[in-house]
Amino acid sequence: MNKDIATPIRTREILEKYGFSFKKSLGQNFLIDTNILKKIVEAAQLKEDSAVIEIGPGIGALTEQLARSAAKVAAFEIDQRLLPILKDTLSPYPNVKVIHQDVLKADVKGMMEEEFNANQDVMVVANLPYYVTTPIIMKLLEAQLPIRGIVVMLQKEVAERISASPGSKEYGSLSIAIQYYTKAEIVMVVPKTVFVPQPNVDSAVIRLTRRERPPVEVKSESFFFQVTKASFAQRRKTILNNLTSQLPDGKQRKEEILTALAASGIEAGRRGETLSLTEFARLSDELYPLFN
Ligand code: SAM
Repeated sequence: MNKDIATPIRTREILEKYGFSFKKSLGQNFLIDTNILKKIVEAAQLKEDSAVIEIGPGIGALTEQLARSAAKVAAFEIDQRLLPILKDTLSPYPNVKVIHQDVLKADVKGMMEEEFNANQDVMVVANLPYYVTTPIIMKLLEAQLPIRGIVVMLQKEVAERISASPGSKEYGSLSIAIQYYTKAEIVMVVPKTVFVPQPNVDSAVIRLTRRERPPVEVKSESFFFQVTKASFAQRRKTILNNLTSQLPDGKQRKEEILTALAASGIEAGRRGETLSLTEFARLSDELYPLFN
């Protein structure tokens, strides 16, 4: 087996060989701990014939471990300076395809059709660039891609928000959006010392398993998300105050909003963070005909 990329010594050698300097603006914190990488790969529960989409391979630390466990790895990397490095470090792995693209602009579905077999088991696995964690995850989920799930390293605080339950202080519209599409679990918390350079925040690995169908049925998904976002606009405000200030012409339509809250069995003085997914679904369906 080839020497692992993700050791402090090998990583330093590679960076020096290419005179690579980290770009903070691209969220470049590379992993230098093979044990952590192996745990990330384990969490993805890959099979021999699985395919993986990676976002941001860096110098290939995680890509290499994925290539050893899966049939195919397609990795989106935005930083052109990393392409020659990846060509070198990943040369022993012909099952890796590096795609020089911003994942937020990429046609991921099109790429899957081109690179993967029909009905292939697909996971997204990544150590995400922290400046765009949420937009990347939301893009992958909203696109309704045929993937089994997502295993990613991200800021611990975001991982806690994503997996939070109603009533906790981390619970918010992000928890709802992601739990609508997936079952979310924190796999492990990761110390700063396993990265170079070390990030300012603590990290965690999270596993999102895509649901066959959403846990609640709503008349309009986009309106449901609009209502949940509105309800958390100001965390200390009541649901009534948030809805009247956020929904179009909400202030003039306070009576209608009160009626919708009553019809959903939700007291107007409650705060967004106490509402379950089911309650939000009922509320959004009561409000929908009034605002659409
Ligand atoms: N996977 C490597 C590792 O674990 O050592 C690197 C992870 S580093 C946290 C994030 C990587 O994402 C960097 O290589 C960065 O250049 C890349 N990146 C940042 N923004 C991106 C984007 N919008 N699309 C694709 N890659 C991006």
